[in-house]
Amino acid sequence: MKHYSIAIDGPAGAGKSTIAKKAAKRLGFLYVDTGAMYRALALYFIRQGISADEEDRIGEVLDDADITIAYEDGTQQVYLNGENVSGLIRTEDVSRMTSATSRYAAVRSKLLQLQRKLAKEADVVMDGRDIGTFVLPDADLKIYMTAGSRERAKRRFLELTEQGIPCNIEEIEKGIIERDERDMNREIAPLAKAEDAVLLDTSQMSVEEVADAVLAMYQNKAAGGNGT
Ligand code: C5P
Repeated sequence: MKHYSIAIDGPAGAGKSTIAKKAAKRLGFLYVDTGAMYRALALYFIRQGISADEEDRIGEVLDDADITIAYEDGTQQVYLNGENVSGLIRTEDVSRMTSATSRYAAVRSKLLQLQRKLAKEADVVMDGRDIGTFVLPDADLKIYMTAGSRERAKRRFLELTEQGIPCNIEEIEKGIIERDERDMNREIAPLAKAEDAVLLDTSQMSVEEVADAVLAMYQNKAAGGNGT
């Protein structure tokens, strides 16, 4: 049986995961967070004392890093060699290491298999950087979600502040811009809007408005429209 897939790509902090999670819940689909898989691998490299520019060493240790995902109460958990590392992969250090190592062919091809397998087995909302362009080129609905870098930094700032984590909005914005540049300019599977993706600028939209827009696109597609 062919499964339905929704691909959501876009730069850091555009709200992809919040929306993908909501859409998946409303549709009864599985939410697949591909960034978490790259992050778990980056954590592994950090723990091995490997720096981001050591491509050869990264290639050597990749086989020893087993990445799997499981769902607990509908929430994706990512496991690194059997350890649930979901709570350890959102730090700035890991974010930086992730975008610096996700450019390597060996890293990407390891995770590509896992991502495609998941989409074969279930209806999915999958978010990342290259889902519509590369991982699932035949996805039923593709969305490229973006927002201005200041707005994205502001959202992240509020999120961290709410959790009582001290932070600086200028630094957050700088980090976001650096990551986007790396993700957009790498050789393999760079972040880009697929030609057939719908562009959704969320700068002026609330979470609920974005979620409704995505659901409307899904319904439009299901009714034979072009998703817009
Ligand atoms: O989405 P998230 O911010 O968790 O992604 C972290 C990093 O993982 C991105 O900056 C990017 O370098 C990498 N990534 C990727 N391809 C994906 C998902 C994430 O290269 N499909």
